[in-house]
Amino acid sequence: MITVLSGGTGTPKLLQGIKEIVKPEDLTVIVNTLENNYFSGVYVSADIDTVMYTLCNLINDELWYGRKDDTFYTHDTLEKLGYHEKLRIGDKDRALKIQKTELIKKYTLQEAVQIQKNALGIKSNILPMSNEQPTVKIDTNEGLMSFHDFLITHQSKPEVKDVIYKEVEPANGVIEAIEESDHVIIGPSNPITSINPILIMPGVKSALKKTYVTSVSPIIGDSAVSGPASKFMKAKGYDVDCMGVCSIYKDFLNHYIINTTDYKYKNIIEKMISKVSVENIILKNMEDKIQLAEKILRID
Ligand code: GDP
Repeated sequence: MITVLSGGTGTPKLLQGIKEIVKPEDLTVIVNTLENNYFSGVYVSADIDTVMYTLCNLINDELWYGRKDDTFYTHDTLEKLGYHEKLRIGDKDRALKIQKTELIKKYTLQEAVQIQKNALGIKSNILPMSNEQPTVKIDTNEGLMSFHDFLITHQSKPEVKDVIYKEVEPANGVIEAIEESDHVIIGPSNPITSINPILIMPGVKSALKKTYVTSVSPIIGDSAVSGPASKFMKAKGYDVDCMGVCSIYKDFLNHYIINTTDYKYKNIIEKMISKVSVENIILKNMEDKIQLAEKILRID
């Protein structure tokens, strides 16, 4: 059994490779829910939907958001009516979100996700990290704002002073999935807003200590491949490099993978964890993704 901890961009790229070599029934993905919220009247769990679309080959893997074959009639009609959507939601993607919004009136989020992933023909297990609704605020030089206001309205431009969220309870099966796995993979996701919210839930770190954990750095050189991870890490007092990420995971990490251009960090990181590999971790095409997945899964 393989369990992957995921956000909504870096790790789904790696999942495209992992799913080519791991049997679907042997794969569980525990997905961040920190940024879930209501937009245009529908519940948006962007990272969960991205993971679902990735596992059934429907993901728009240029944007890492929404479906690849979508249309935008509803969005464009809303604009014409004078309603400006904060998030541009595609028509087919909106259907999934409408269904989830209705389902969570009756079921927990994890039950709703189970119904939807089955309907999409996905055999892997997809677990939202929690059924509780977390809240996240970004404290900036322009004031306290929601995650999406920071990301979309302010285009991640303000200076970040802090990222504030509380721990939530894990969904049913999260701890068991980690404990019963032969290998847990922490993908190259934002350590502050995608992975740490999973790590701080009660029982997660002690479960990780009982299994073999590999992580891929989302930071190359002194910056993130995409998104605001660098700003968030700096605000939390971490160095913005692959070592900074490693210092967050070091207590339970067995194998850490950094980019070829960061080879100079290998010796120093080896003092913190037992195995460090230097590989190409820039996941541009399927070959990159499958090669990295194969290297991760070859434990020695
Ligand atoms: P979010 O939910 O959209 O924030 O997505 P994630 O947290 O899953 O992913 C964002 C992180 O993915 C960023 O910190 C990026 O640096 C990292 N990332 C994106 N693409 C790549 C890639 O090709 N390689 C690596 N190593 N990291 C990547």
